[in-house]
Order: sequence, then C-alpha cells, then structure tokens
Amino acid sequence: MTALFARHALLPDGWRRDVLLQWGGDGRFTAVTPDAPAMDGSESAGIETADYVLPGMINLHSHSFQRALSGLTEIAGEDRAKSADSFWTWRDLMYRFALGIAPEQMEAIAAQLFAECLRHGYTSICEFNYVHRAPDGALYPDVAETARRVIAAARHAGIGITMLPVLYAHAGFGGAPLRDEQRRFRAGPADVLAIVAALEPLRGPMVEVGVAPHSLRAASVAQIRDLLAGLSPERPVHIHIAEQGGEVQQCIDHSGRRPVQFLYDNLPVDERWCLVHATHVADDEVAAIAASGAVAGLCPTTEANLGDGLFPLAPFLERGGRFGIGSDSHVSTSPVEELRWLEYGQRLAGQRRNVAVTTDERRVGDHLWRAALAGGAQAAGRRVGALAPGYAADLLVLDEAHPNVSAPPELLNGFVFSGNDNLVKDVLAGGQWVVRGRQHVAQAAIAGRFKETLANLRELRP
Ligand SMILES: [Zn+2]
Repeated sequence: MTALFARHALLPDGWRRDVLLQWGGDGRFTAVTPDAPAMDGSESAGIETADYVLPGMINLHSHSFQRALSGLTEIAGEDRAKSADSFWTWRDLMYRFALGIAPEQMEAIAAQLFAECLRHGYTSICEFNYVHRAPDGALYPDVAETARRVIAAARHAGIGITMLPVLYAHAGFGGAPLRDEQRRFRAGPADVLAIVAALEPLRGPMVEVGVAPHSLRAASVAQIRDLLAGLSPERPVHIHIAEQGGEVQQCIDHSGRRPVQFLYDNLPVDERWCLVHATHVADDEVAAIAASGAVAGLCPTTEANLGDGLFPLAPFLERGGRFGIGSDSHVSTSPVEELRWLEYGQRLAGQRRNVAVTTDERRVGDHLWRAALAGGAQAAGRRVGALAPGYAADLLVLDEAHPNVSAPPELLNGFVFSGNDNLVKDVLAGGQWVVRGRQHVAQAAIAGRFKETLANLRELRP
C-alpha cells in the first residue's frame, strides 16, 4: 500500500477534504492531492481510506536509556529536613544507573521507548546521547557503539531519528574535571566528530546526525567552537541551556551573565540550534532566542517531574518564538500530554486561560500541534512534520469511532484536551505502517526484550 485517501487531512495550509496521499519506496510523499475524486470502492482499488489524518509529531529531546527509570524515582529521601529531593538528587540516581548499563541493554530499552512513542503519535525523535564509553571509562573499539545501538533500535521500531552525540568534558563551569561517576560520558570535540564521521554511512531519509554540547556546565565555549568548526553547517546543534536555578547562578558566578546571554554573546546561535530547557530566561533572553530563529526545546512533563520551573511561553510567542516538545526522561511518551502540560503550566502560573494562541490561530490545540510540528522539524534537521511532497511519509490516523474524535475544526482541541484515551489508531512512519489498530507491529518482540532487560538491570535501578 503506497497511498491513503483521507476524508480530512491537516496539510500545511490547514484542514483539507478528500486528500489523496501517495508515497514512494524511499519513504517520502510523492504527491499530496486535496479535493481528489471520491474513492468509492477504493478498498478494492487497493487504496485504503481514513477519516482523520495528521502529520506525526517530532519528539525533539530524548535520553532513551532513562525510560528504564521512569516511575522508579518517585520515593522521597529518608532525611527530608537535611536534603530535600531535587533535580540534583535525581541526577545522582540516574548516574548510578547509567554506569552499569550495557550497549545491548540500551538498545532494548530504546526500542521499547520508540515503539511507545510511535503508538502515541511521535514519528521522529532526537536522541541526545551522552553514554559513550564502557563502564570502566574506556572507549569502545567502535567509538559510535552506543549511538549505533540507539539507531538500530529506531530502525527496529520504525521511527525516524536525529542522533546527537554529546560533547561532555567538565563537571561544572570553569573547566571543573569530570567526577568519577561521569567517566562513561567523557567526549571532547574530536571524540564527538569521530562519532559523527563513523555514523555518516547511516544517514538517509530516516536518520540524521547532528551534535549536542551537553550544557555550558559541561562544555566550554572554545570546545563548542572546535566542534562546530568540524561539522557541516546545516547539521542540527542541541544544548541543555538553563534547566535549573542553580545552574543559572553558577553561570553568573563564572561569567557575570545568565546562560542564554552568555551563549549568545559567545556563539553564532541561529536556526540550526535547539535550546533545550530554556526554562530560566530573563526578558532580554526571551527576545534573543526568538530573534535568532533557534527552537526552544520544551519538555513539560520531565520539567514538572524534576521540579525545574516554567518557560515564559506567552512573551516568547508574542515575539514569534519557535518551540517544539520532547519527552526527555520519558515519564510520559505522549505528545498530547506534553502539549497539555505546556498549556496548563502557563494557565496555572498566570491564572488565565488559552495562552498558546496567535492572532491568526485562536484554537489552542491547533496552535500547539502545528507550532510543535514546525519547531520539532527544524530541530530534527530532517524533512518531516508536513503532509507534503518530498517530506517523510509520516502520518497518524485517529480513531474515527471514538467519541472524543470529531470533525475539524474541533478535532485538534478534542485530541489535545479531551480525556486520556490514546486516540491514535494507525501510524505510518517513513512510508511503513508501524502501528495498526493501536498495536506496534513488533510490539511482542520489543516488549519481551525490554522486560528481560529490566529484570537483568534490577540491582542497578533505584
Ligand atoms: Zn536532557
């Protein structure tokens, strides 16, 4: 089957009726034709039909191995008075886990994560991969060992991937040496560029390779410059920028400036950049990100889970800022929940309603889905996020029989804001049907391997 007839489909210019979508063997749309002749008897003509079709969402921030920790770090420490639980106590648990995990286990966990992401409507993912080395801190014979494992998992599950090997050199601002428990993460600019070069043959319609300086804590300006100098100018660049108040203060102590100010003063930040967790930003930083065309990478469920804080979405949108969503630590694998929390956080903080809108788009669900598609596609550096010729043939078919699914223009508001059932019925990614009737096509094998891996990792988990 290389065509689908959609009675309603969300195209770049909005909802259209009677859309014939066709794709080729390379996994890209070859033609997208609205107002196509009615497809009566189309099943027999070999063309499947669907009522409601959307472009698949892009998940712009993932540490796939952390999926094995979700649900396991929600226990308070014993001495509440002495040390309240925080991002930093969570990070110690995560480090402990990361130290013991083997490459084949990373692959099994990633495959389960990617299958879940597909079932909920993500058809692309950006993997911020920083576990590079063996548990003893030595390089693997193949420097790209762990990145290759995660890409193999993406292929197995059928999700498009942007692999971002991470530059990770310091434990804090000013070049502080890495702690012993960070030994698996160590990678300078030359190491990261060696991984990028090793992955070059894997690039294609479903795989792109960029880079990610971990943060301004873990990578110096000079190292980031060296990294960019060795990279093709069109490749995506992601960075954790201002997730925690403590890290903002450390940046001020080190440089006299806040992280976003410091970044923009020292590096040529433009549309290839994705600033992940731009949580703690002052007014001038909001303006700088918006003006540069960089994407703000927002991960509302993880940011809530870790007690990070709230990104100032309204002033950012007023300035035309671009954003996308990511599931980061994977406490949720649903773009609906990510977008809902993004909007609800703003409503709670501002004691107002309907924040994520523009003068042209006053439906919140519509603006959230479409803006996150555009921002996510830009951050992924792949031709995704649009039902249009030349783009990856990635689409979602919603369950037309479900009471929460109604015809456009109500569809996206109902999809994002109504109930908790997963309304995604079928998913096409890269021209392949990877979810049918809510089941991932390789679900049994992937889930079996994942469960076995979790059992083997039991003593490493908190
Ligand atoms: Zn992250």
